Amino acid sequence: MTGELVELAKRRGFFFQSSEAYGGVSGFYVYGPQGAALKRNIEDSWRDRFQVQEGHREIEAPTVMPEPVFEASGHLDTFDDMLVECPECGESHRADHLIEDNTDIEDAEAMPLSEVGDLIAEYDLHCPSCETPLAGEPVEDFNLMFETDIGPGSGHPGYLRPETAQGIFVEFPRLKEYARNQLPFGITQIGTAYRNEISPRKSIIRVREFTQAELEHFIDPETDEPPLHRVEDVEVTLYSAVEQNDDDGDYLRTTIGEAVEEGIIASDWVAYYLGVGQEWYERIGVDMDRFRFRQHLAGERAHYASDCWDAEAEIDGDWIEITGYAYRSDYDLSKHDKYSDEDFTIFRQYDEPKVVERATVDPDMSYLGPEFGGAAADIAEALQTLAERDRTAFDGDVVTVEADGDTYAIPVEKTGFSVEEVKESGEHIVPHVVEPSIGIGRVLYTVLDHAYDTDEIEGETRTRLSLDPEIAPTTVGVFPLMDKDGMGETARDIAAELRSHGLDVVYDDSGNIGRRYRRQDEVGTPFCVTVDYEGLEDDTVTLRERDSTEQVRVAVDDLPNLIADLRSG
Ligand code: ATP
Repeated sequence: MTGELVELAKRRGFFFQSSEAYGGVSGFYVYGPQGAALKRNIEDSWRDRFQVQEGHREIEAPTVMPEPVFEASGHLDTFDDMLVECPECGESHRADHLIEDNTDIEDAEAMPLSEVGDLIAEYDLHCPSCETPLAGEPVEDFNLMFETDIGPGSGHPGYLRPETAQGIFVEFPRLKEYARNQLPFGITQIGTAYRNEISPRKSIIRVREFTQAELEHFIDPETDEPPLHRVEDVEVTLYSAVEQNDDDGDYLRTTIGEAVEEGIIASDWVAYYLGVGQEWYERIGVDMDRFRFRQHLAGERAHYASDCWDAEAEIDGDWIEITGYAYRSDYDLSKHDKYSDEDFTIFRQYDEPKVVERATVDPDMSYLGPEFGGAAADIAEALQTLAERDRTAFDGDVVTVEADGDTYAIPVEKTGFSVEEVKESGEHIVPHVVEPSIGIGRVLYTVLDHAYDTDEIEGETRTRLSLDPEIAPTTVGVFPLMDKDGMGETARDIAAELRSHGLDVVYDDSGNIGRRYRRQDEVGTPFCVTVDYEGLEDDTVTLRERDSTEQVRVAVDDLPNLIADLRSG
């Protein structure tokens, strides 16, 4: 079916490979007029559910960010896929995909490089392009970020962001000000992310430039709780992380509430967003019989995640990840707090002041002597940080600290280390983050695939996309039975009137009326309005519904409200 859908997508302007005039480039796609409208509607629907209904706010950050951001976030070191190169044709392949595509093994991504290399040899895997054996070829890490130079010269390397999330995390010091230093609060962003995928494939499912819709919900892990009661009855299909290599897998049909109670979903916050997500996928037309949540295995989790679930949709017998739900804990904000000069913490006010023990060192280290030069102040700062984090470091005669890239051994007695009781009104904490991260292109492909259908009408096969009216690229097709005797003008006026009510309308007067219905069925237009002779007499039109093909006669004046109501369900 993928072939038919991709052909339809190309022919009817949903999506197609970019720069085809110059031979095309793998992993880059254009959304045509239908696709761009569908994508925008999916984004609007996502924005409504994950942002507006939850009371979160949206930002728009740059797609290029400087190198230190990705040093701190861990992407420079660990955002890698496994690459094996064919010695004959030079084509690069994702080593874990080669294994997963050609064996029963499903989690090669979680394996170490050496094991993956051994499996390629053991299963005698060949290059998919030229059939050369790949046994013995080195398997290497390949970093997925696109690098660029910011400004002339190479002094300021930058990277195209591999996820929109970092654009939110890095701005946390300003965003917390906006939130008046109060947790919890959520920030969303819909924007482009870039990954230099080793082998882009499955049309828009694995590409090098794609749109993510991400929510970063900042919480105090000790005091903030999600409104679980709102989703506790939502039914979900969970796919067992433990048994997933069995032939049939291990499915559990349960509710969010029960899954939390049984400890199957570890984080209440992740559970909450799985429930919100479930309702949303259903709302936009993902087939719930071809949808599941799958928990990551420990080795499969991203470098930042402590509990992670994927929303997966079935497409042509394969399960495709369409959303990642991650409990990112304080990973990102702690890193940026440490690597930057800004404060990524929030002050947690106690209900009542508390008496606490505070470890301090003498802030003035000038008496350390000239051998420490200008480093004295940095050493004092490092010692203070160490005192707060680990007082046992001061148990011996000498304490060792790193300051300004050097290591210093300082006699403890010289540090002025002391522990005293003080009254505190609160403390600085690094917020935790829960993140639903949606790939808009994959969701779009899923709703198209799940909406694609053929049936028979009046002895002819028709292709239809039974897209939900909320996201269908066009809401109404308006046709005159024929463009004569005033029917054309009336139909064009009706189209203009419907557009003025914010509806997406297409006017069509070419070909017989059956053909025009088929054309709209094929791109998923849920309603068609036809002006005929009878309607000219009594100001009525026929309104046809796509899936049932049923037609009713309605007054022209009622049309805008009627269609708007039908669209919003
Ligand atoms: P995969 O394992 O398929 O490479 P991932 O686990 O790396 O995906 P995340 O980092 O969790 O993906 O990204 C969040 C979402 O972004 C994914 O659920 C997916 O919908 C989307 N996404 C990630 N990589 C791509 C890509 N190369 N092309 C299209 N969408 C993508």
